[in-house]
Amino acid sequence: MGIVAALVSTGSAAFLVSVDCSGTAFDPQIADMIKQVDEEEILNTVSVLQGFTSRYYGYPGNAMASSYLHGELSNITGLTVEYQGGDLRNIIATLPGKESSKTFIVGAHYDSENSADLSYAPGATDNGGGVAIVLELARIMSRYTFEHTVVFALWNAEEGGTGMMGSTAYVQYAKDNGLDIALYFNFDSTCYDPHDRLVLDIMYNDRSRCMSSLMTQCNSLYHIGFTLTYNAHTCGSDHRPFWEEGYTAVMTHEEEHGPAHTADDTVDKISTAYAKKNGQLGMSAVAYLAGVQAPAAR
Ligand SMILES: [Zn+2]
Repeated sequence: MGIVAALVSTGSAAFLVSVDCSGTAFDPQIADMIKQVDEEEILNTVSVLQGFTSRYYGYPGNAMASSYLHGELSNITGLTVEYQGGDLRNIIATLPGKESSKTFIVGAHYDSENSADLSYAPGATDNGGGVAIVLELARIMSRYTFEHTVVFALWNAEEGGTGMMGSTAYVQYAKDNGLDIALYFNFDSTCYDPHDRLVLDIMYNDRSRCMSSLMTQCNSLYHIGFTLTYNAHTCGSDHRPFWEEGYTAVMTHEEEHGPAHTADDTVDKISTAYAKKNGQLGMSAVAYLAGVQAPAAR
């Protein structure tokens, strides 16, 4: 559903264009799915992550967070969970497609940073909220079957001097192994909305332009209620390594950065209502593209 494959030529290289976002219509099953996003679960996940004190790569709290998140994903029926990237400890949870191994990935980085003091980096808006959304999508989408494979990815070492080390390692792995990735959907800086404005930015490039159109349709079809902006932000995150290797990738971004990379990036700063809507918008688009079929018989 919603997928075509066509070869287009860009310079000398041929790329597989595998996402067709045109022509989505209201799907009552997707409406049911997105109703299940739970603000309490989002709040709980962000609180637990903040409790690890600093999730900066190399700090003890980073390893504790990766173990915790691996455990949370492993508790979800239907997912196969593994660490990826050696010491980088990306966490990859796979919901196999019923008819194809074409893969749709939703992901977020779980490490955190405080530029003034790396030993205390609560990282609630950046990026506990994004991780909480991915966990919610994993819990809910695993209750359904899909035509295509859906992967829930939690990246390590997005912050820091080198930046995006976890997702970069995965993209290299995907390239080396010829993984058929149709889309990467990135959640970073996803839940800060201090004035309840519900403004959300969609960051896309030429390859993922159609995602901005699909998400605009979904925002309206499912009455999600965002005022959408388009490429108002340009900052880097884990969608970048995918872009650089020619994969289709998109990211959403809150209207303003807020307390990211400071000691003030604490759980009281997040809007769970905004995070919920962000998860609903992403899930509606990905569920459509991945071809949601039916509730899983479990
Ligand atoms: Zn971030």
